[in-house]
Amino acid sequence: MSTTAFGQSTVLGYPRIGANRELKKAVEAYWAGTIDADSLANTATTLRAEVWRTLRDARLDSIPSNTFSYYDQVLDTAVAVGAIPDRFARLGLSELDTYFAMARGVDAEPALELTKWFDTNYHYLVPEIGPDIAFVANPAKALREYAEAADLGIKTRPVLVGPATFLLLAKGDDPFARLDDLVEAYVGILGALAEAGVAWVQLDEPAYVADRSPEEIDALRRAYVRLGEVEHRPQIFVATYFGELGDALPALLKTPVEAVGLDLVAGPDNLNRLAAAGPLRGKTIVAGLVDGHNIWRTDLRAAVAAGATVAGLADHVAVSTSCSLLHVPVDLSVETHLGARLYERLAFARQKVDEVVLLGRALRDGTAHLPAPLPPAPDAWRHDGVRARLAALGSGDRQRGDYADRAASQQERLGLPELPTTTIGSFPQTAELRKARAAVRAGTLDDAGYTERMRAEVEHVIRLQEELGLDVLVHGEPERNDMVQYFGEQLDGFAATHHGWVQSYGSRCVRPPIIYGDVARRSPMTVAWSTYAQSLTSRPVKGMLTGPVTILAWSFVRVDQPRGDTADQVALALRDECHDLETAGIKVIQVDEPALRETLPLRKADQRAYLDWAVGAFRLATSGVADDTQIHTHLCYSEFGEVITAIDALDADVTSIEASRSKMEVLDDLAAIGYRRGVGPGVWDIHSPRVPTHDEVVEALRGAVAAVPARRLWVNPDCGLKTRGYSEVEASLRHLVAAAAEVRGN
Ligand code: GLN
Ligand code: ZN
Repeated sequence: MSTTAFGQSTVLGYPRIGANRELKKAVEAYWAGTIDADSLANTATTLRAEVWRTLRDARLDSIPSNTFSYYDQVLDTAVAVGAIPDRFARLGLSELDTYFAMARGVDAEPALELTKWFDTNYHYLVPEIGPDIAFVANPAKALREYAEAADLGIKTRPVLVGPATFLLLAKGDDPFARLDDLVEAYVGILGALAEAGVAWVQLDEPAYVADRSPEEIDALRRAYVRLGEVEHRPQIFVATYFGELGDALPALLKTPVEAVGLDLVAGPDNLNRLAAAGPLRGKTIVAGLVDGHNIWRTDLRAAVAAGATVAGLADHVAVSTSCSLLHVPVDLSVETHLGARLYERLAFARQKVDEVVLLGRALRDGTAHLPAPLPPAPDAWRHDGVRARLAALGSGDRQRGDYADRAASQQERLGLPELPTTTIGSFPQTAELRKARAAVRAGTLDDAGYTERMRAEVEHVIRLQEELGLDVLVHGEPERNDMVQYFGEQLDGFAATHHGWVQSYGSRCVRPPIIYGDVARRSPMTVAWSTYAQSLTSRPVKGMLTGPVTILAWSFVRVDQPRGDTADQVALALRDECHDLETAGIKVIQVDEPALRETLPLRKADQRAYLDWAVGAFRLATSGVADDTQIHTHLCYSEFGEVITAIDALDADVTSIEASRSKMEVLDDLAAIGYRRGVGPGVWDIHSPRVPTHDEVVEALRGAVAAVPARRLWVNPDCGLKTRGYSEVEASLRHLVAAAAEVRGN
């Protein structure tokens, strides 16, 4: 085994989408059949070379490879260990098309499940490890990328998801039943890498920053003891990120791996655990001191101090980002429209590389060359009025009247039938709507023209819903580009980037706003749309807001105050919006919280505090209305069993919730905790283009009525309809309304 030193500075990964989302465009063109596989491969080669050159020119001394992906790094690792389920292998497609079939599905086979990567907004593909999987080393991709970089004169460190995390992320009851087999595939990969001259390999084990049982920690230990024994192998760097390793740290340090990476940003206590672990003879500790999950500049002096503490404990210390830079936008330098005082406080991926390099040098040569610390945040970012309101809040400001009274007065005012029908908010975002927005950006359509088109769309959506016979209508959200950005653009304290794209999954990228200062509402944000829609119909129209937790989850949030305080500031703005909607005659207001489960902390010990502020912020936003205004909320994208009591604590009058994939399990969970308010389990899975039949909806409703009394049950789809086409929407909603009528009748 070679013993090349690790180096002073590294990153755990770098954005692969390209500065202008070149990868998205190429991959989508390949899917559409407008470019061929060679052309796609050429784009990919160019993007990889750009990343390696960027990192080398920044003088980073340990450069990762195999962090490129056509879709997802967990899927890449699945392919690298031969975990291609038979149902895809037997399609007889090319290697690349088999890969994309696993990622996206084909007519005959649904894709692998897609789910959230720890507490980020990145989604990975869940490996399927059935009995048909025979693990086998397939190091081709890692070798190819290593050789490609080597041709540019750049020695790299191939990165793979580690075996224990891979199994913990996979689907199945006993994740470690196949550990030994899988580890042998990794043995094969390590051998091939060593053969090619690879000096270091990075194996990512982030699953161990969550609560893990002694058996699970022992599996980690076993895996790395075995890999450590391999005679002809690269040196092994086990990277962990997103939190504290806890008991897994001493276990890992006892294995023969040469380097361990710790996230000292999300897991500051890792430092104490490291100190408690005693002298770390022969180990390199890779200290994650630069936040890879947020966009603020690092306090370099504080980071050097933490790095120096690590240096006092380990044989060698290297500085890295806390996690892969995949989670931040590529380059700040193109965002010249941001004011100077905000700009100087930010660092995107490219700038974070410089920080890591500076820190590595400062640890070696002292802090003399570090730039001066930033001045305090400008006063203009403070909003004294908002602060005073927050300081004056009492518990009564998060409390509505008794539910029984609310329900009675709402029913009297709304006069809804049993099993009322509604939708979740958005109607299809048609090409015309997107074109209108593009025309506004291009300056060829003025604001008045845009508003006129959107109003025409609202009218169309209202007429359609009346014709379909829905009970509670929506305006359809045609004016919303995105459910967070739309509000961010109208609130003080938020900034939008022009090119700050971050991969969410596959070719999907998002552009999260930045919350940099106190949040305040300048003027009503949604009232004109909702009241216009309400003016067109005698049926109730729901006002539509995005909740405080979701707004935070899908933004880059300031770190100079607790998240709960920022959430409360957003909540106050929404509270005022609810008040204005109510005053304007809107009787039902939905406050969406699809991300409530998403940002749940990974460790149980931290979950309570999160849920307390999350629920508190939602209640602050929604409790200012009169008893006879009906508050709805909507939750989706995950299984909610873990946070079911928090859902109850939101105290919404009606909760619509994704349920059709999980076969209504959520109703049992709700029943088990004594939930007694309205609930609308989704009866149509809108993530699929399939139109549910009338009978399917009837069956789902009958099942629901068995679990929840009909007077509390609502009938609605799983989620918003913006990604669907009008033909499916009309047909599905027709079935939904007819099914409700049928079940109501008996
Ligand atoms: N009201 C939003 C919509 O219908 C909710 C979207 C969501 O849950 N992600 O589009
Ligand atoms: Zn949803």
